[in-house]
Amino acid sequence: RLHNIIQELKGNIRVFCRVRPLLKSEDSFCMDHIHFPQQDNKSVVLSKTEESHTGRERKEAHKYDFTFDRVFSPESCQDEVFHEISLLVQSALDGYHVCIFAYGQTGSGKTYTMEGPDDVDSETMGMIPRAVRQVFESAEELTAKGWHYTFTANFLEIYNETIRDLLVSKPEKNVEYEIKRVSPTSDELHVTNLRYVSVSSEQEVHKLLRTAKTNRSVAKTILNDRSSRSHSVFQLKIEGRNETRDVKTLSTLSLIDLAGSERLDKSLSKGDRLRETQAINTSLSNLGLVITSLSNKDSHIPYRNSKLTYLLQNSLGGNSKVLMFVNVSPLDENFSESLNSLRFASKVN
Ligand code: ADP
Ligand code: MG
Repeated sequence: RLHNIIQELKGNIRVFCRVRPLLKSEDSFCMDHIHFPQQDNKSVVLSKTEESHTGRERKEAHKYDFTFDRVFSPESCQDEVFHEISLLVQSALDGYHVCIFAYGQTGSGKTYTMEGPDDVDSETMGMIPRAVRQVFESAEELTAKGWHYTFTANFLEIYNETIRDLLVSKPEKNVEYEIKRVSPTSDELHVTNLRYVSVSSEQEVHKLLRTAKTNRSVAKTILNDRSSRSHSVFQLKIEGRNETRDVKTLSTLSLIDLAGSERLDKSLSKGDRLRETQAINTSLSNLGLVITSLSNKDSHIPYRNSKLTYLLQNSLGGNSKVLMFVNVSPLDENFSESLNSLRFASKVN
């Protein structure tokens, strides 16, 4: 409850930065340019050094200071990260829509953070399976207070402004996935022809997560690394009712692994590749725009400008809580992409 009060005061949008560690295959001196100056876990500094004209010493040429709601340095483990989002996940059972995004260039740790690198039940388990576990465990505990919950899951991908169902392995030809109102009188949106699966346990959801993972990696070999060029959206609709108190809740927990934010060289892309690049840039910058308009409490929010924001329209505005992870690579060669990501993230914060 205290968490909710604090959140009301701070607004419903927060940004966490996570810098991944170097991999075994990467050089260990690459991290000189990223610093975590304070012990407050809220700041990260990027600096660029240049050789002096004598060539004998290096001096700091540019310094960029960023502050976020939380900064995770490379030593942070999945458990620590989840600890900081578990109250947010919990509020989905209280009837708040919750959206958690991972933003960053390809290779910065988005999928590691959201899904985890291994199967579930390991220490490296990602935020999606952890959130699912917590939701089912808490729902179980809340039955003692008279609450009953039902859950519906779906998992889709938006590639080039086209929706694909990740729970279907062989999509039928000519199936149209369109975002529509559930009924003319309802504000609730759904995607036509998409699989919405009624689930009642953590294990059932984990099975769906595995199916989605398989379906995604199959497509990856068909199309040149499609998974990094698409947004993947996992949603769990939570309907609660408390008979003793005659109250109902309806909310959606959305967990989104965004397309890589790297700027691709437009001069090198042609045809499909160029269209793809433009679609990603448009939808990511529109997402940023929507989030900033929400935090500025603008009267017009440009939800309709991209499939992603249109799909999430109800989960982003109104009674909702939004968290964005900005994932950052520690590599020196990624300096300018890291800077771009941090700048994007501080704009929405
Ligand atoms: P993205 O999804 O942004 O393209 P990945 O999640 O695939 O990036 O991460 C790139 C590589 O870095 C993978 O090999 C992944 O296992 C590793 N990695 C990412 N974040 C971490 C982390 N926090 N700890 C250890 N390894 C990580
Ligand atoms: Mg990824």
